[in-house]
Amino acid sequence: MEDIALIKCIKYDVDLLEKKLREGFDLLGGDEFLKKLIPKDSKVLLKPNMLSVENKESPVVTHYAVFEAVIRIIKEYSNNISFGDSPGFGDSRKAAEKSGLMEVADKYGVSFEDFKESVHVRLDNSILCKSWNISKAAYEADVVISLPKLKTHAMAYYTGAIKNQFGCVPGTQKATWHTRMPNANNFCKMLLDLNTAVGTNFAILDGIIAMEGNGPKSGQSYKLNTLIMGRSLTAVDSTAVRIIGYDNPLDTPVLKEAYESKWGVVLPRDINILGEDIETMKVRDFKLCRKGGNFYFISPGVTNFLRGMIAPSPALIKEKCIGCGRCGEVCPEKPAAIEMVPNGNILNPKWNMHECIRCFCCQELCPVGAIETKYSNLGKLLKLDKR
Ligand code: SF4
Ligand code: SF4
Repeated sequence: MEDIALIKCIKYDVDLLEKKLREGFDLLGGDEFLKKLIPKDSKVLLKPNMLSVENKESPVVTHYAVFEAVIRIIKEYSNNISFGDSPGFGDSRKAAEKSGLMEVADKYGVSFEDFKESVHVRLDNSILCKSWNISKAAYEADVVISLPKLKTHAMAYYTGAIKNQFGCVPGTQKATWHTRMPNANNFCKMLLDLNTAVGTNFAILDGIIAMEGNGPKSGQSYKLNTLIMGRSLTAVDSTAVRIIGYDNPLDTPVLKEAYESKWGVVLPRDINILGEDIETMKVRDFKLCRKGGNFYFISPGVTNFLRGMIAPSPALIKEKCIGCGRCGEVCPEKPAAIEMVPNGNILNPKWNMHECIRCFCCQELCPVGAIETKYSNLGKLLKLDKR
């Protein structure tokens, strides 16, 4: 049985957040718990979600007020705190500055790590991936705290505590993992191994303003008023997906793989939710990105042909496209599964679906949300698009 703290918080006010997070830590065991989690003056790394260069109030990134409240508490246990991430696109320093995280870090003497330097790590007890290049700063930290944003995700359905740590893979090496793990099942196993390699110790999920719909970058804000904290990343994520509408956490690929690999607790019966009653926190109108469970159709046993017929694919919202070409640049396939074709004065992407591995990096990193996930007619017939 794993304890997590489920906290209701209705706004990004740093004093209120500090109070709420302290309540959460108290539920988990208070000062004794924190002393065990953060041995005196240990090297602590905070890993917020800085997917791309975003404004302060953007629902794409972890809110700076949550970050500040966390630092205020952690500071009482260690003076050796750093933070960092490696965004999917763009410069990590700029991402930290624009989102307000850098200003907060400077105020409290928290150092910045750009995650450009990596170390080679071998993981003998892996589920799937034994050899890793990961951020040196993350690997060498004594305590790693994931500070994810609760969002929908086109490939993984949901991104939270586990998926957030994909940023510990430096820069363009992330694309290599997409190419090496073209199906969602293996990609999710890789994420679990990554968390083992990094040694993520704790997660505080920012779901006060979450993202629904076309996440993780181009969806809409959803006021969920939720914070979830715990040592078990699977327990935190399992609780989060139940709140947004997946009644069975095994309907999301990362948690299904975690359950089958016995990587952390996933089932509600194994999670002790402290604080709020989950039933009062659940919402029914949250727009999910993918209907639960249909990842079975993209399992390795399914032929590419059938997968092509059923699985959703990236599709252009023509009127939004500004012809920047970023989608083609971030496509991990070599050559890219996207070709830019003229459309009046600009270029629009055209997909080669025979080559596309449906990693949705193009959808994730389009700067203007001009790419959505679309189901084929067969997929619609099978009601895979219903949510
Ligand atoms: S779809 Fe998005 S990323 Fe691709 S060219 Fe258009 S605006 Fe740029
Ligand atoms: S076209 Fe988009 S979804 Fe397909 S492989 Fe490239 S980035 Fe991934």
